[in-house]
Amino acid sequence: MITAERKPFDEIYAMTEGHDKVLVAGCDTCVAVCLTGGEKEAEILAAELRIKAKEDGRDVQIEHTAAIRQCEWEYLDAIAAKVEEYPAVLSMACGIGIQSMAEKFAPKLVLPAVNTNMLGMPQEHAVWLERCGACGECVIGDTAGICPVVRCSKSLMNGPCGGSHDGKCEVTTPEKGDIDCAWALIWDRLKAQGREELMLVNRPPKNWSKSSSGGPRKMVREEAKPV
Ligand code: SF4
Ligand code: SF4
Repeated sequence: MITAERKPFDEIYAMTEGHDKVLVAGCDTCVAVCLTGGEKEAEILAAELRIKAKEDGRDVQIEHTAAIRQCEWEYLDAIAAKVEEYPAVLSMACGIGIQSMAEKFAPKLVLPAVNTNMLGMPQEHAVWLERCGACGECVIGDTAGICPVVRCSKSLMNGPCGGSHDGKCEVTTPEKGDIDCAWALIWDRLKAQGREELMLVNRPPKNWSKSSSGGPRKMVREEAKPV
């Protein structure tokens, strides 16, 4: 799923300045599941913004709404009438949903209230782990189902590097702390699968043109188009 975190309140509040009507728009799919931007979180953010605006003596109308999915225009029709009433919209969807809103309702001002951060797997309640970078050319069939692109700190296609020690990566940050060496994990699982020989495969450099670093991508499924 796509995960996101709410921006700091002061940053969001600053975006409302200069507007007398602001709509906070939640999205009830990925960002709702990661407890960031669903209808409930949109309602809470709108209430917090109203309180702060009142403290500041501002005369501003701040309400909330939510779409089932902001990334699909058919779901935006349900909130279109309300969106039209507000000159500024704070979207709590992922980066796709925010841009979908901005495009559908252009030239309306649609502002981001969250930072989209990763494609994550839930580990436990309120904890998500990055598992895929949408690189466009999946290699995990040969790496025991473990993604070297996002789980190796250097995105190495042939690891481990010399910084692997006791199963841990040399890269640590205050936020991440100790992290497992992806290639140590790959080795352990390949061994358990009886496929250790795959560690000896010399993988070619990754073709990054298939990732978003090669420009925006487009996916077309001709066979799925209506005839
Ligand atoms: S190899 Fe690419 S597509 Fe496969 S899990 Fe990793 S980032 Fe995602
Ligand atoms: S120690 Fe392991 S995870 Fe860290 S950069 Fe080297 S191979 Fe990648």
